[in-house]
Amino acid sequence: MNLELSEEQEAVRRLAEDFVAREVAPHAVAWDRAEEVDRGIVKKLGAVGFLGLTIPEEYGGSGGDHLAYCLVTEELGRGDSSVRGIVSVSLGLVAKTVAAWGDEEQKRAWLPRLASGEAVGCFGLTEPGTGSDAGNLATRAVRDGDTYVIDGTKMFITNGTWADVVLLFARTGGPGHRGVSAFLVPADTPGLTRRPVHGKLGLRGQATAELVLEGVRVPASALLGPEGKGFSVAMSALAKGRMSVAAGCVGIAQAALDAAVRYAGEREQFGKPIASYQLVQELISDIAVDVDAARLLTWRVADLVDRGRDFATAASKAKLYASEAAVRSANNALQVFGGYGYIDEYPVGKLLRDARVMTLYEGTSQIQKLIIGRALTGVSAF
Ligand code: FAD
Repeated sequence: MNLELSEEQEAVRRLAEDFVAREVAPHAVAWDRAEEVDRGIVKKLGAVGFLGLTIPEEYGGSGGDHLAYCLVTEELGRGDSSVRGIVSVSLGLVAKTVAAWGDEEQKRAWLPRLASGEAVGCFGLTEPGTGSDAGNLATRAVRDGDTYVIDGTKMFITNGTWADVVLLFARTGGPGHRGVSAFLVPADTPGLTRRPVHGKLGLRGQATAELVLEGVRVPASALLGPEGKGFSVAMSALAKGRMSVAAGCVGIAQAALDAAVRYAGEREQFGKPIASYQLVQELISDIAVDVDAARLLTWRVADLVDRGRDFATAASKAKLYASEAAVRSANNALQVFGGYGYIDEYPVGKLLRDARVMTLYEGTSQIQKLIIGRALTGVSAF
């Protein structure tokens, strides 16, 4: 693994940094307070090529490798996790999964639109009764001639109210994960209702929704991958998704470090900048080590993906470490800010609120530990 960025990768990183400085960072606090990111950001993300990264150019994508994707995701996470999540889901969980599992018609129908930002995708796996135990989902898709009729409820769906297409997981067979299939459901299909979820601790600008499906009829051609292989589709999506969450967490931790270093140099107590106190330096150095460790674990996943190697366990390690590191780092930065860290005019409170969900979604920290433990022992504890 080469730790030196290539000229191309450095150019993409700088492009993302400039984009965030111009289009994201100045608005992040206002979007957080309004509980709504300006939807215009999607087209801008598409125009600059960030929604098409790693997608082949013949399907409207912008190509690039997974390290470039992680660099962009980190910069977006550094600016605003709500915006980072739009890309991680619409590109990371939906478009990449269509590219990996879709037939020619599905790729032509959705990839150019998702890559340009003309369409937004969401990923419908979690249900009110099944989160960690996603293989036991209850949403049903019943075959009726050349169609499937889908009934069920999906919970906490990122981009849910914005989405044009739902990558939806439903039961077509018996109990357990072998009975699950994946579908590409246009969001305007009759019978699909979306209800916004408000009052989140963080990611307040992001459109999170409950999806209710009542007699939603889709053609059999909406099936993504073979019938009964939906759980494999979901797990392959989430393995890459965890790399993206990890990269976003590196961005949060880096933002916490930048803020803590800046503030520690400016703030004076006892007649000296607080940066001169050893205990404050300890807080800062703990963040710095977390940033480096989380970034290296994340880059390793990107490197494995780009070389076509097994990456699922490495992705769980990166996601586990980076998400916990993001929470720790934002919390340490808040400590450096003292009471001002607790007020939302300063950046670190939002970083902590946004970081907190990272140890929960795309598999909780406990689930990542079980995946890593299973890989090491050969025994599944869940
Ligand atoms: P539960 O599964 O009920 O877990 C509760 C607690 O029990 C956790 O601490 C968990 O680690 C622990 N636990 C459960 N089982 C075990 C076990 N076997 N061993 C040890 N501990 C265990 N889902 C989507 O499908 N698409 C999305 O776009 C999406 N976006 C989200 C956005 C937000 C803001 C949030 C909050 C959630 C989102 N989710 C999404 C759902 C998310 O993936 C789930 O919340 C997550 O998987 C956990 O499921 P749960 O909330 O039902 O918790």
